[in-house]
Amino acid sequence: MKKALNVIGVLLVLAVLVFFFYLPSYVDEKWNYGYAQPPYKVSPEAAALHKTLFIADMHNDSLMWDRDLLKKNIRGYIDLPRMQEGNIALQNFMAVTKTPRGMNIDGNAGTTDNITILAIAELWPVSSWFSLKERALYLASKLHRFAERSNGKLVVIKSADEFGKFLERRRKEPDLVGGVLGIEGTQVLEGDPGNIKAIYDAGYRVVGLVHFFDNEMAGSMHGVAKGGLTDKGREMLRLAEQKRMIIDLAHSSSQTINEVLELSTRPVMVSHTGVKGTVNNNRNLSDDQLRQIAAKGGLIGIGFWEEAIGPITDLKATVRAIKHAVKIAGIDSIGLGSDSDGSVPMPFAASGMVLLTQELLKEGFTETEIRKIMGENQAAFYKKMLP
Ligand SMILES: [Zn+2]
Repeated sequence: MKKALNVIGVLLVLAVLVFFFYLPSYVDEKWNYGYAQPPYKVSPEAAALHKTLFIADMHNDSLMWDRDLLKKNIRGYIDLPRMQEGNIALQNFMAVTKTPRGMNIDGNAGTTDNITILAIAELWPVSSWFSLKERALYLASKLHRFAERSNGKLVVIKSADEFGKFLERRRKEPDLVGGVLGIEGTQVLEGDPGNIKAIYDAGYRVVGLVHFFDNEMAGSMHGVAKGGLTDKGREMLRLAEQKRMIIDLAHSSSQTINEVLELSTRPVMVSHTGVKGTVNNNRNLSDDQLRQIAAKGGLIGIGFWEEAIGPITDLKATVRAIKHAVKIAGIDSIGLGSDSDGSVPMPFAASGMVLLTQELLKEGFTETEIRKIMGENQAAFYKKMLP
């Protein structure tokens, strides 16, 4: 009997060890990788142009993984050294706080959650195990700590003034990287629009209204009811705009998109999406939505992952989506929104961003167009939109 208890004890310890040390890195490694691996060989023309670009990306989920983003990692898509190698200047770091089990693009209830297990396994603060708001606060503090330890090379940007100074510095320091914080879903407000203040104070400037399920503020295109803004959602929108936060309509239901476009007083962002024009599914924007968002001065980030754009083994897939979006929304409204480290493989790792520059050149985009798509549109948007 005693022997049996010993065996059970050992097995329990092993299970705990696997849970804490192996599970998060296993998930990270299995899903977050670049298909094409370095060294990245490109034409001299593409390499020369790429070096002179200002490159920005509207969406990653890197903060949720147990990875030191200051060290060059083998797993995952992005970290500071690989951003520097890829000449990426500006990155939105988005906070994923709750994802339903069996997540799909057509319909999810908000009754289950994968992130609780991840938060426990990665030993996030105990308060964040039970509170979505605390999760968002913790993830913001993670980016700030990376910045503090980066010898000034990673800067968290929170205002137009700070962004201007960052651009000034980067002209002399091409290895400087800027980060902007965003939430992926207003479920972090825990039903209280007034919590937008705590989110702002934590450094968040981009407010993604929904993720894969309808929340207290708005309907998701992957939710069950897929409704629009609630009364609380309208109040939250007013408070967020008052603070000059940027509204992100990625994952929003059609009704939410329509209502926000009608109510909002400022341009909006769609941080990561594909287009129905190349992949016709429930995740992607229709031509009408592309036109309406652009008409209000909005910015649309084209993703790099399969569900949005098609096979990641084909670099042309992202460029096809960009081409269609530019045709419909215009060259000034389109940027990049990779969704990297979002449990979806990418066509390349962050250090291989030059492959996209090369592909855009091959597909006949002009130098001016490439500059805008790769990041200048996003820079112009932030200059105008940040507090
Ligand atoms: Zn997303």
